[in-house]
Order: sequence, then C-alpha cells, then structure tokens
Amino acid sequence: PSPLDKEQAQGLKAIRHFLKVRTSYDVLPLSFRLIVLDTDLLIKKSLNILTQNGTCLLRRPISRDEHADVQLTAIVSAPLWDSDTSRFAGILTSTDFINVIQYYCQFPDEISKLGQFRLSSLRDIEKAIGAIPIETVSVHPSRPLYEACRRMLKTRARRIPLVDVDDETGRETVISVITQYRILKFIAVNNEHNTVMLKKCVREVNLGSYTNLATVHMNSTVLDAIHMMVDRNISCVPVVDAENRVLNAFEAIDVIPCIKGGAYEELDGTVGEALCKRPDDSPGIYTCGEGDRLDSIFDTIRKSRVHRLIVVDDDNKLKGIISLSDILKYVLLYGDEDAGGGREKAQQRFAT
Ligand code: ADP
Repeated sequence: PSPLDKEQAQGLKAIRHFLKVRTSYDVLPLSFRLIVLDTDLLIKKSLNILTQNGTCLLRRPISRDEHADVQLTAIVSAPLWDSDTSRFAGILTSTDFINVIQYYCQFPDEISKLGQFRLSSLRDIEKAIGAIPIETVSVHPSRPLYEACRRMLKTRARRIPLVDVDDETGRETVISVITQYRILKFIAVNNEHNTVMLKKCVREVNLGSYTNLATVHMNSTVLDAIHMMVDRNISCVPVVDAENRVLNAFEAIDVIPCIKGGAYEELDGTVGEALCKRPDDSPGIYTCGEGDRLDSIFDTIRKSRVHRLIVVDDDNKLKGIISLSDILKYVLLYGDEDAGGGREKAQQRFAT
C-alpha cells in the first residue's frame, strides 16, 4: 500500500475507535426537545404538527444571563406512543406518508376515509399496499455508538430510537432518536485530526452510486418522483434538465407540503411546483466532484446541513450520488474484513 493508503487506513481506524468509545447518548445535544405523537392522533393532524414545529422560533437560555433566539429546524419524524399499552410504537417518518399516498393511488375510492385514519392505522396501510415494514430496531443510549451505526447499516434504518427502561416502572422510555445525519455530523465535528488523513478522492474509493441513476425533470409529476423513490428504496432523486445538468433534488420530505390539508390532487402537480413549497430555510443541495477528497467532504458535513452529495462534472452534469449511508458504510466497513466489509465486497456493493 502507498503512504496515502496507509494514512487513509489509519484515519479510518481512529474514527472507528472513536465510535467504539463514545455512546449514542454522547451524540445528543445538551438540551433538546422530543415530540412524541400519540397513535390515536389523526394522520392529517400529525402532518400539521410536523410542519408547524418546523418553523417555530424559541428563546433559549444559553447561560444564566443570556438568551438566544434559536430557529428550530423542521421536524421530519417523531416517535409514536401507544397510550393503550403504554408502549413505544415505532417512528413516524416520511416513508409513512409515502405509504399513505400509495394507498390513495391503489384505493382512490377510499379518499373520503383517508381523513379519518389515525396513526394507529399506519401498519394496516402498510399491509394493504404490500409494503415491507421497516424493522423497528432501537438501541440503548449508553451502548457504544458503533453498535447503533452497525444496526443502522444492517437494517437500512435512517434513524434509530434510543430506548431506555425506567428503573421504577420497568417501562420503556424513548430518550431521543439518532439519525445518520447526526452521527456523521458528530464524527466530523470531533474528528478533524482524523478526517484530515482521509486524502483519497471519491473516485479512488468508489464512494457512492454512479450507474442506473434515478432522476426526474422539473415538469415530472410528484407522483412519478414518489414511485421512483419507492421502487428503488431511495430517499431522493436529483432533478436534471434535458442536458442532464443538475438543477435540484426532490426529497422524500418534499411530499409533506403536497398532502398537507388533504390536497392529494397536488401530487399530480410538477416537481418544480412542489419544490416551491419548501420552507425558506431549507438548505438546498450540496455537490462535489469525483476528484474531491474525503477530507473535504467531511469539512462540508462539519459546516453544513448535508443530507447527501450530488456528484457533478465541470459542466454541472450529473455523475452520481453519495448518500449518508454510503459515507457511513465506508467509514465503518471499508477494508475491515472482521466487520464483513472486505475491499472486494465494498467495491461490489458500490458498483451495483
Ligand atoms: P440514505 O440511506 O442516506 O437515505 P438513500 O436511501 O437515498 O440514502 O440511498 C441508498 C443507496 O442508493 C445509496 O447507495 C445511494 O448511493 C443510492 N442512491 C441514492 N439515490 C439514488 C438515485 N437517485 N439513483 C440511484 N441510486 C441512488
């Protein structure tokens, strides 16, 4: 191996060590709020709650005398609570809303009933459309973070609830939810000295997907984009022009404003129209080139709200996509035979 390979391996090893000595609890901010929704709530009301909470401004204490205005970022998911059984009942995510949309497409006559569905009906909706339920896994907050990461990659869950058991009542308590995004941010912020060792570029380590890319145009319908995301089990499709130049990206959460208020007709609207409904503070897309080094990708993660990177050439034409799961997989498994991520395996995986 070249000195560059050695340094890269050393950097990865140090990050993996970091993940093994930190717990999921460490990832949580000092103060945070957790919105838990009762499964008895109407689905349409849950949509309002998610969108309302995305835009509120809070004055929070930062020290005994000082306060700061904190713009809360949009909530895109929430743990569910079944008050009949007093148990945690999974997490509500954009996939659930996409399931509701698919249900509406398959059973258009039931549109009048749709407004009466409660969050407790989500599992029935899943069954009715034949969707494979997302495995509900959880981790204990004081277990190593490495474990939460491995579990995420294994189940393809993009977020995992941290569930503890109350000593007195023996009941489960949801402490918070951790996401791939939060974990990568935590790695980036606390490992600058290790990420600088990752000098190999995206092309050299085959990071991301480059073939058979799913894309839409501005005038494609929202339903087209949704079906593409469902069929391919992906959370985003790049929006390109006729020359394959990247204009934007349509994400799973972009469906929420389209169905808020029960206006399912808006799904026949265009991707371009749907993107106009995004909140003003939405972060936009991040791009990179195939020659960009991993350390610069970690710099971007450290500084910005990155949920994926779109790989473009010098003419801004689409080349590929690097998802957070691709990055997490690389960081955890690449070259680590023991973890089941041998070099060949990782390359095969990236080539498909
Ligand atoms: P995440 O798990 O971070 O939410 P995705 O589910 O979108 O990311 O991505 C899952 C896998 O599919 C990744 O390997 C990613 O590179 C690939 N992928 C994501 N979007 C697309 C797309 N539009 N076309 C082809 N492959 C994609």
